[in-house]
Amino acid sequence: MSDDLTRTIPRSIWHGWGDPAERHTLPSHAWDFLEREIGAGRLGEPDLPVALDEVVLPEPALPPAARAAIEEVVGAPQVRDDRATRVEHAGGKSFPDLVRIRRGDGSHAPDAVVFPGTPEEVQRVLEVCAAHEVAVVPFGGGTSVVGGVSASRGRFAAVVTLDLRRLAAVTALDPVSRIATFQAGLRGPEVEDALRPHGLTLGHYPQSHQEATIGGYVATRSAGQASTGYGRADELVLGARLATPAGELRLDAHAPASAAAPRLLDLVVGSEGALGVITEATVRVAAYPKATARGSWAFPSMDAATAALRELAQHHGDASLPDVCRVSDPSETQVSLTLAGGIGGRLLSYLRRRGLTEPALGIFLWEGDSRVRVEQRRLGFASTMLRHGAVRLPAAVAAAWQRGRFSGPYLRDELLDHRVLAETLETATTWDRLLPTYEAVRDALAAEFAAQGTPAVVQCHISHVYAAGASLYFTCVARTLADPIEQWVRVKRAASGAIVAAGATITHHHAVGTDHLPWLGDEIGQLGLQVLRSVKDTLDPVGILNPGKLVPLR
Ligand SMILES: Cc1cc2nc3c(=O)[nH]c(=O)nc-3n(C[C@H](O)[C@H](O)[C@H](O)COP(=O)(O)OP(=O)(O)OC[C@H]3O[C@@H](n4cnc5c(N)ncnc54)[C@H](O)[C@@H]3O)c2cc1C
Repeated sequence: MSDDLTRTIPRSIWHGWGDPAERHTLPSHAWDFLEREIGAGRLGEPDLPVALDEVVLPEPALPPAARAAIEEVVGAPQVRDDRATRVEHAGGKSFPDLVRIRRGDGSHAPDAVVFPGTPEEVQRVLEVCAAHEVAVVPFGGGTSVVGGVSASRGRFAAVVTLDLRRLAAVTALDPVSRIATFQAGLRGPEVEDALRPHGLTLGHYPQSHQEATIGGYVATRSAGQASTGYGRADELVLGARLATPAGELRLDAHAPASAAAPRLLDLVVGSEGALGVITEATVRVAAYPKATARGSWAFPSMDAATAALRELAQHHGDASLPDVCRVSDPSETQVSLTLAGGIGGRLLSYLRRRGLTEPALGIFLWEGDSRVRVEQRRLGFASTMLRHGAVRLPAAVAAAWQRGRFSGPYLRDELLDHRVLAETLETATTWDRLLPTYEAVRDALAAEFAAQGTPAVVQCHISHVYAAGASLYFTCVARTLADPIEQWVRVKRAASGAIVAAGATITHHHAVGTDHLPWLGDEIGQLGLQVLRSVKDTLDPVGILNPGKLVPLR
């Protein structure tokens, strides 16, 4: 039976998010809130995306000889340069990508889009493109939020996007060892759909799950909503096939662990299309849960929340740490409960009466193979929560979050229509630095919006918990200025500067792309950048793969 984890939707519209037939809109009390907080309203002429015909595209520049050679590999119908296909591949789903394309700027579109059907075809296309000096941008679901799929040509005269959607086979499934091999173009729901009849799951649900692909997960080291329990993409992957212009790097999953040399798989995981094209990934899968439980708690402060989560995460073998673990700061809590309408308001008053004037809302989900065990975990968790002064809320709060967990991105389209910037960014750090980092980034964002003269809502949640620390996920909402991209650049610079100064990572799960590249050297050093460069030079000597992403241009 199809549910929200197995439901395949049509590919995103080119100027926004998700299934065009499924629109979600903000209720009027949400607009009242935005009017009050940031002075943005729904009234007035909306700023709608231009029509497809009005997007300005560069003349296709793929030389005929290169095109003929690619067509020889994949067949002529699988090389397309019609307007709709080029526009659909002009970028990902970041704020700047969407603003650009909505305004009709197709300058980041590829000259053509190639749809290979097998790993062997991918390999041969790369060899042809290297010989003809054509840049290649690997494209999975196109949900990158860091500029990862915009078709930059670097020093090359032409650029093609390699859309991997036809690589959609389940190559192997071993229910005994609980491992499965998928071709790279399978999307999140398709992976779940293939595993479900065997009583298995990948357990990987980024908010982009309905669109993103298994190849994209591995290429970006993504983290899902349940990654505290199931592990992030880089923890799930056991093997891969990487097509590169220098040949195929084949890293089969021979064993659950190995001491044979440094782990070359780590060059594939997080390689962002700059070192090769992942054609297949072998991943660890888990039993599909037979039982689930939910919990909603309010902490008196972020201090109390982090102390409770750290205790659970560090307690050796503590099975009570939830699979989904997410705690909103007081600002996000206020916004979520206010937007929930009457019930949210009543919960806020209840918490105030219990002495929580600045509550931090926690949403927790447990999954497991028996109701008894799941309940045991939930009860073990509850005793830690109570010791840290948390107040139990109805589990319906967590259920409401779970119901709406894939619909949030639709709302950004409506906000953009009404000139509202809604941007998210993330980091992670160790427990000792978590709260200082949270405060530093939050304050840097608030100061930047103040300098721009735009009132903003800045909020954050802890989204993934580890023994050594946790990740922080920020959302900011403000009115757009006359030049929204310049506005975004300033906001991004302020947040990234604060992240780097705090010693946290520039990205916990969105990857580097173009947007985080200026700060990568702060994290891995100049020698680290040189190591990346030398790996690229070995695998991609001509430098055709995703120019300007992950590895700085020369
Ligand atoms: C609304 C929304 C919510 C999101 N939520 C999350 C979240 O919860 N967690 C999270 O981690 N991320 C999230 N993201 C970011 C994004 O979805 C992830 O990075 C995802 O893993 C990208 O997968 P994709 O298939 O769409 O890759 P794409 O966007 O197509 O590509 C991403 C990068 O990987 C490269 N690439 C793609 N496929 C391959 C391949 N087969 N071989 C080599 N390189 C390849 C591309 O060249 C590009 O550099 C979200 C994005 C959006 C828009």
